[in-house]
Amino acid sequence: MVSRLVLVLGDQLTDTVAALAASDKDSDIVVMAEVSDEATYVQHHPKKIAFIFAAMRKFAKRLRDDGWDVRYTQLDDSENAGSIPGELLRRAEETGASEVIATQPGEWRLIEALEDMPLRLTMLPDDRFVSTQEEFDAWAEGRKALRMEYFYRDMRRKTGLLMDGDQPEGGKWNYDAENRKPAPEDIAFSGPMQFTPDDTVEEVLDLVEARFGNSFGQLRPFWFATDQTQARRALTHFITYALPRFGDFQDAMMNDNRFLYHALISPYLNVGLLDPMEVCRAAEEAYKDGHAPLNAVEGFIRQIIGWREYVRRIYFREGPDYPRRNALNHQRKLPEFYWTGETDMNCLSKAITQTAEEAYAHHIQRLMVTGNFALLAGINPHEVHEWYLRVYIDAFEWVEAPNVIGMSQFADDGIIASKPYVSSGAYINRMSDYCKSCRYKVNDKTGPDACPFNLLYWQFLDRHSEKFSGNQRMNQIYANWRRMDEDRKKTILSEAEAFLENLS
Ligand SMILES: Cc1cc2nc3c(=O)[nH]c(=O)nc-3n(C[C@H](O)[C@H](O)[C@H](O)COP(=O)(O)OP(=O)(O)OC[C@H]3O[C@@H](n4cnc5c(N)ncnc54)[C@H](O)[C@@H]3O)c2cc1C
Ligand code: SF4
Repeated sequence: MVSRLVLVLGDQLTDTVAALAASDKDSDIVVMAEVSDEATYVQHHPKKIAFIFAAMRKFAKRLRDDGWDVRYTQLDDSENAGSIPGELLRRAEETGASEVIATQPGEWRLIEALEDMPLRLTMLPDDRFVSTQEEFDAWAEGRKALRMEYFYRDMRRKTGLLMDGDQPEGGKWNYDAENRKPAPEDIAFSGPMQFTPDDTVEEVLDLVEARFGNSFGQLRPFWFATDQTQARRALTHFITYALPRFGDFQDAMMNDNRFLYHALISPYLNVGLLDPMEVCRAAEEAYKDGHAPLNAVEGFIRQIIGWREYVRRIYFREGPDYPRRNALNHQRKLPEFYWTGETDMNCLSKAITQTAEEAYAHHIQRLMVTGNFALLAGINPHEVHEWYLRVYIDAFEWVEAPNVIGMSQFADDGIIASKPYVSSGAYINRMSDYCKSCRYKVNDKTGPDACPFNLLYWQFLDRHSEKFSGNQRMNQIYANWRRMDEDRKKTILSEAEAFLENLS
């Protein structure tokens, strides 16, 4: 019997992933490879490369222990072909196989590369999600706006999560109104579970240090989970100690606390060490046991079966050109301080420094600090996209691009966001303690100490008034701008221009 090659990518580390489920352990051959093409098509954070390679090596061992023939190529193997198609061709020659079974990659670039390969390819849908693309496309058909909230309700009905018959638990679908508390005085959670690197991880860390040590971000200390057992322990730790207060402080930011009550499970979910339904059921269980309140559990579950599913479907619905969209025609270059954290704006400095050290920042830091600034300053969205893809440990294009191009930069012209996510310094001040230790004054609207977010906010609205002044959700803001004294407007606009010129 002729063997088939079963491709398992670095973000497909699940026993039941479609390609493995469709293959025969006794005759088919698993191909896994650490290749420079994937590690360098953008210069990823070293922690991200280490996390993926270490998790791949452990998963390969697990498959071997389970009886699979696994052909695994390490980055420094002399025969390494350097790309996924190259490795498949090499293994085909080595084994005589002419057919490849793959699970659909989460990026158009790799899908196209596989389709161009001179081998017979069966590409199966990645079914590690709650929704299917067909289901989403049918839901989207004929709708004027694809709002996440309505899609999310269908996912609640489909999964039965937090449902009381056909009604939402507690009578409401969404408890976000209770979830926007500002930064608390102190935090009673010591952070995510951290793991001491074992031999496999140490070996990978040495390799990554040697090959990618000069990329943005610090490799050590490295504490992420790298196998399913560890990831499950990290999940249990979060559910036990952080979930009860996750909702309350979901949007808060603090100088001296990087993780607050966040789960830090996105890398595990995205590479397949955790399953979305297993995570949601554990959270629902905590609600049923009276351990966590409904606002926390609903808010958490919404991120996973709502936002995470929704952005996946938008990415595949919109097609390969999505990361190149630029609806607002923003052309400014990404400021150098995104790579150094060296800026007097404390919020940005803190979010970027933390990103360099942890390869992590939470949702509001990504959306309302680094994302908000880039949008206000008119940075080219593709450069912003590449930055996010490089710097976060959980960044895979299917999830990163809709969040950046759509939600954060409005570059998809409002497919995801009904209005641009922009704010002045007031929002950051309300939700964090950053402004207290900033060289700028958040209450100054003009003058040498004025918070740059204040200047840029109005300049953005003025610059794009033709596009947004008719947006119902922005009526009030534009009314405030129109009412403002003409001299004051002129001062704001000229100070904003001067700031932007300096930035370039
Ligand atoms: C500009 C921008 C870029 C982002 N880039 C990524 C990315 O590359 N990869 C990524 O996984 N998430 C991304 N997100 C979403 C979100 O910021 C992260 O999923 C979250 O911060 C991960 O940390 P956590 O596990 O502590 O999440 P928690 O806040 O504890 O939330 C729990 C889980 O919900 C899911 N989730 C929450 N929000 C989203 C969302 N908007 N989209 C998809 N899933 C979500 C994640 O799986 C997360 O683990 C981005 C958000 C923004 C605004
Ligand atoms: S004053 Fe402005 S720049 Fe400084 S931390 Fe606050 S929002 Fe950021």
